[in-house]
Amino acid sequence: MKRDSGQTPSSVEADLLVLGGGPGGYTAAFRAADLGLSVVLVEQRNTLGGVCLNVGCIPSKALLHSAKALEDARELVHQGIEFGEPKIRLEKLRDWKDALVAKLCGGLAALAQQRKIQVLMGEGRFTGPNTLSVSGGVSVKFRQAVIAVGSQPVRLPFLPEDPRIMDSTDGLALSDIPKRLLVIGGGIIGLELATVYGALGAAVTVVEMTEGLLPGCDRDLVKPLEKRIAGRYEAVLLETRVTAVVSQNDGLLVSFEGSKAPAPQVYDRVLVAVGRQPNGATIGAEQAGVKVDERGFIRVDAQQRTNVAHIFAIGDVVGDPMLAHKAAYEGKVAAEVVAGKNVVNDAKVIPAVAYTDPEVAWVGLTETAAKRTGIAYQKASFPWAASGRALTLGRGEGLTKILVDPVTHALLGVGMVGPHAGDLIAEAALAIEMGAEPGDVALTIHPHPTLSETFAFAAEAYEGTLTELYMSSKRG
Ligand code: FAD
Repeated sequence: MKRDSGQTPSSVEADLLVLGGGPGGYTAAFRAADLGLSVVLVEQRNTLGGVCLNVGCIPSKALLHSAKALEDARELVHQGIEFGEPKIRLEKLRDWKDALVAKLCGGLAALAQQRKIQVLMGEGRFTGPNTLSVSGGVSVKFRQAVIAVGSQPVRLPFLPEDPRIMDSTDGLALSDIPKRLLVIGGGIIGLELATVYGALGAAVTVVEMTEGLLPGCDRDLVKPLEKRIAGRYEAVLLETRVTAVVSQNDGLLVSFEGSKAPAPQVYDRVLVAVGRQPNGATIGAEQAGVKVDERGFIRVDAQQRTNVAHIFAIGDVVGDPMLAHKAAYEGKVAAEVVAGKNVVNDAKVIPAVAYTDPEVAWVGLTETAAKRTGIAYQKASFPWAASGRALTLGRGEGLTKILVDPVTHALLGVGMVGPHAGDLIAEAALAIEMGAEPGDVALTIHPHPTLSETFAFAAEAYEGTLTELYMSSKRG
């Protein structure tokens, strides 16, 4: 998209200012325009789509698709089909991913134009409670505002300036395939990028300072992933910290600390994925009277309203989980409140997905959280080793489990690990939102043979009606 110079007057006025054009911001802007408001959308990048579309969800999933295709092709050897060693033309892979991103960005620009949203490309800073200045000299006067400025990668202060040290954005740029790659951080982003680089041929080491990968996720869901990557990666270093990285001609010399820490190692590249920090402190929020906490988050109420009544905030900048679908949902709530609708953010659950191989997905209560907070629950699960469909895919290592309120029998949480778990979890999110009980899920006829059946089978296991396995203790 072109910078809106030329036609843009030096001051513009609108019912609604949206600051930040990511999935939160563009959703809020589009919804508000559809509800009849005049909208100015300010974005400092040259394109809409934010982190998610430009340097997050979409490019990572594009590369993960290629990685999965590579792995699937390799595994066909067990079924008597061999392709030989793949030829990876990195430039073409990059071009394909970039073209996909550009196409989606172009789509958003067109959608903004169709809605007559004024898009200003530049960095915005509040100059008062109803005014914002945009780099390049435009000032915006607004009646209400939505702050949707997202987040950025956390940097480790002790790392040297060295182009071989990458954050997630550099990692997705895919400038080369290092022989030895160290990924610092065993969370979702680190593991997704490890999946990509591992499939493309890098010898990957993941270092994680807590005791397990995907911290916060239930261990039984992570186990199949840990088992699969144990055989594929050079090393997974748990309860280990990186203490120093030194630039050398032959690579990056990395020192570790921890009971299982190895001796210093040389890597060709280091990818840092240790979390993201909100951008709340970078927008002159104090000029508008909006409070920003010491970490850069902006606190909001159930209508996404900040401490200033006509200014709202959404997405990564208001808190965890930092996920695109949460940002978009909050964007709709904020836009509707701005337009005068009496709505609140009453989402019961927000699904989370690690698009690793296998995928790990969960929604609602986790066992980890239940144990930590003392919430009572009953549990039932279905191992994918008994799913015909999982076995046709050659992937019987998965698991679907449900957590149920022992008193009301409502579904509280669902976790899945296995191929396509990220798509399958949507049914569980709907079930929890609808207040479904395992009986509702069990009595819903699921197509056979599909992985979706595993959710119904876990529900049947809870009900005691499961016939796919022999259950010694039955309820119904
Ligand atoms: P952002 O997408 O961060 O957008 C904020 C926008 O505001 C940015 O474009 C920024 O340039 C702009 N901005 C900031 N300050 C200013 C300013 N002063 N003036 C003008 N513009 C400004 N989430 C998922 O749900 N699924 C995934 O699969 C997934 N994968 C990810 C993979 C990676 C590698 C990364 C890094 C993130 C991933 N995420 C994923 C997280 C997801 O990208 C974010 O949660 C989401 O983008 C947040 O949306 P947002 O609208 O709050 O902010």
